[in-house]
Amino acid sequence: MLKIFGAPSRYIQGAGALDTLGGYAALFGRHAALVIDRYVHGVLGPRIETLCAAHHVRLTPLRVDGDLTPDLIAALRAQAAAAGIDMVIAVGGGKSLDAGKAVAKAAHCHLVTVPTVASNDAPTSKNYVLYDAHHNLLAVEHMLFNPTIVLVDTAIIATAPAHFFRAGLGDAISKKFEAEQCGRNGGRNMYDGAPLLSAQLIADGCLRTLLADGADALAAAGSGSPTPAFERVVEAMILMSGLGFESGGLSIAHALTRGLPKIAGVATALHGLQVAVGLLVQLDLEERQDGMLATLTQWYDQVGLPTTLRALGATGPTDAELTLAADLTLNARHAANFDRTLDIGTLADALRRHA
Ligand SMILES: [Zn+2]
Repeated sequence: MLKIFGAPSRYIQGAGALDTLGGYAALFGRHAALVIDRYVHGVLGPRIETLCAAHHVRLTPLRVDGDLTPDLIAALRAQAAAAGIDMVIAVGGGKSLDAGKAVAKAAHCHLVTVPTVASNDAPTSKNYVLYDAHHNLLAVEHMLFNPTIVLVDTAIIATAPAHFFRAGLGDAISKKFEAEQCGRNGGRNMYDGAPLLSAQLIADGCLRTLLADGADALAAAGSGSPTPAFERVVEAMILMSGLGFESGGLSIAHALTRGLPKIAGVATALHGLQVAVGLLVQLDLEERQDGMLATLTQWYDQVGLPTTLRALGATGPTDAELTLAADLTLNARHAANFDRTLDIGTLADALRRHA
């Protein structure tokens, strides 16, 4: 199997980074689809319009409200085709960025992602997630290439509520351990290749940065004023974590996000919070003797991440729910990236130890 590493063409981060949007957009054409939800459009729409107009780029807003279903994607793609756009600018949380990827894939054009929260590592990746009308995950789809430009304005990210930032910490903390399991057990990354050493080293750096600066960064979340620790942790959560999972590969912690939502009360917990608990289950199954579980549990405490299913909102959980969650998890492709083949009973028992 060949080793493959992928990434966005350019990543730009800092307070005021949004001000460079018009200049970058002008590199790709004169007419952009602006994929955005109602709330973010209300807050940032006029500023984005002005920034782009200054560089003679006009915008056709495509509104994303509700889950990203195949019907919504078909509608957005039809609007983009009718407008005759040259590029896509996606602004917002994971859902708007994913919608932007779906539109850019169909239009086969450049994509600029502008995350407004750091709750997950969607901004740098080529994959996007589809749901059915009942909020069940349908499929993970992929653009041919990563976004051309990822524009991370930390002054905007710092205004988002701390709750989202905390979920971003949860989504990022797992990457070192998932890449390790994938790399060591012959797993494939998101490019359907074997991971290069570079991806593991980036995921290792992500973990180190989060452990060192996560709590300080969280203290600045919601303040509107990014600090140096906040800048470092945003880079870890968006860039390092994104490269870490996409080129390094995933394992049990993310496979569990296929099963955990079937436990009553958990489905509405943010993705990153589910991953945080999933990582503890993965480390339990790894039977690590290196003290890492204790280090992480202490850090979870510091930053307020959940350590149990009940802290995620589980009302039971019942044995039947744990068995179903284990079964669905083991059907996920990433579950095979592990030291040994797990059976439903073993995984359900590990979940029970974290109930
Ligand atoms: Zn994730």
